[in-house]
Amino acid sequence: MKNIVLIGLSGSGKSTLGALAAERFGLDFIDTDAEIEKSEGMPITEIFSEYGEPRFRDLETAAVLSAARRSRTVVATGGGAVLRDENMRALRETGLIVFLDRPPEQIAAALDCGARPLLSEGADRIYELSRSRRARYTACADARLLCADGQDDALERLCNLMRSEYPDDGFAVIGDPIGHSVSPSVHNAVFGELGLNFRYSAIHAPRGKIGDFVARAKISGMRGFNVTVPHKQDILPFLDEIDEDARLCGAVNTVLAQCGRFVGYNTDMEGLARALGRRGRAYGGGDIVIIGAGGAAAGIAMKAAIDGARRITVLARRREKADDVRERALAAASARAARRVPDIIRADMSSEALRAAAGSADVLINATPLGMLGAECDYDSLDFLTALPARALVCDLVYNPPRTKLLRESEALGLETLGGLDMLIAQALLSDEIFLGHPLDTEKLCETAESAARYALDAARTGARSANTDVL
Ligand code: NAP
Repeated sequence: MKNIVLIGLSGSGKSTLGALAAERFGLDFIDTDAEIEKSEGMPITEIFSEYGEPRFRDLETAAVLSAARRSRTVVATGGGAVLRDENMRALRETGLIVFLDRPPEQIAAALDCGARPLLSEGADRIYELSRSRRARYTACADARLLCADGQDDALERLCNLMRSEYPDDGFAVIGDPIGHSVSPSVHNAVFGELGLNFRYSAIHAPRGKIGDFVARAKISGMRGFNVTVPHKQDILPFLDEIDEDARLCGAVNTVLAQCGRFVGYNTDMEGLARALGRRGRAYGGGDIVIIGAGGAAAGIAMKAAIDGARRITVLARRREKADDVRERALAAASARAARRVPDIIRADMSSEALRAAAGSADVLINATPLGMLGAECDYDSLDFLTALPARALVCDLVYNPPRTKLLRESEALGLETLGGLDMLIAQALLSDEIFLGHPLDTEKLCETAESAARYALDAARTGARSANTDVL
């Protein structure tokens, strides 16, 4: 992404406005004069008096070239940075050059001339510099911003100009890491099929920084976004409202902007139920076996409890996690007045426990990363599959690869299977219904979404970058 480079007379507001605008857009900010002072360990006035202007200009060129190598940065330059062609060439290559055009009489009235080397002779020098450099500023600039009506007005003008460089992304998925996400491909394909001109991208928001992202998304007018690992819980305090499913789950995976307020939803919980529904299956009255006790397992157990599952077995390598899933599923059943309280069993992941649970399962779900590409772990033995009744459906939440060993071996035994892509697509379409505010013809869109997801997974496997995936 381009930099925004501010040029103009000393005292025109480059540093102040630049820092404020960078903060609004979540960009980095750099002031080349401050960088020089930092590297030399002395104020610019001293560099001028000790070593003279030519030495300062060399230091300035080094600072400018280094700033030009950055991206997504607002760069405040010194008043004389425009004097060297090489400075402006480098800055223009990676940035949009904006001339902050503040009338010299305003600068003269406001400025502490003693702190600025070229102005130390007094305010008259400002008029002289304005006369001699104005044509140069104008010639170097891609845009001129008149700054005659105070700082707030100038900041708004600068932000308006920057909005065209950093447009609101419409929709996005936010996570850390995020490069692997197939969501942009899926959602862009769905929007395309619906004839909607929205753009869905992938944005990297580092762990611990989700609050910064939310603030920025509000300012840039984002319509909505999906949230993935590790922000699903961390985002809760930053939202204005949380829907009931998300509150029950204690996790949000979809955020919609409604009249400037961000409302959090959870479609993970409903996603697998919808995917099962497409196969004519439901949790109600069933014996549901969940392997794993993380966020996805909890959402599934809660939904199964709400929908009236007869028995839910949670198998996990850590007993306390399975206990937690049990508590949450019981609380969900009670909060939604489920028609029955399920029998919830916790077990470890030993072969014996897996076989015992499989014996009466209607649906068996892998909710761990076992078998996932890159996770470098898989089931030691899949013998427990032979204990499953013929009516059982085996579901793997892992979607990369689309056919895991668990699914392949289940199919070899003649069992029905459901892959992670089915759930991914079901929850993505549920998110799109929230984003767009109306139900979608999901039968029709599933095919489009699935081929986009498969294409993105293939592209990732072969090292090609999906055209839809824009990792910022
Ligand atoms: P999570 O919160 O990290 O939970 C992962 C669970 O798997 C935990 O119980 C964890 O146990 C267990 N686990 C991890 N490595 C294990 C191993 N080597 N052996 C045994 N158990 C292991 O993750 P999540 O969000 O629930 O996601 C679980 C899986 O579902 C992931 O593969 C994710 O990609 C997939 N998923 C798919 C979709 C979809 O739409 N298809 C949606 C959500 C999730 P500990 O707590 O002991 O570490």
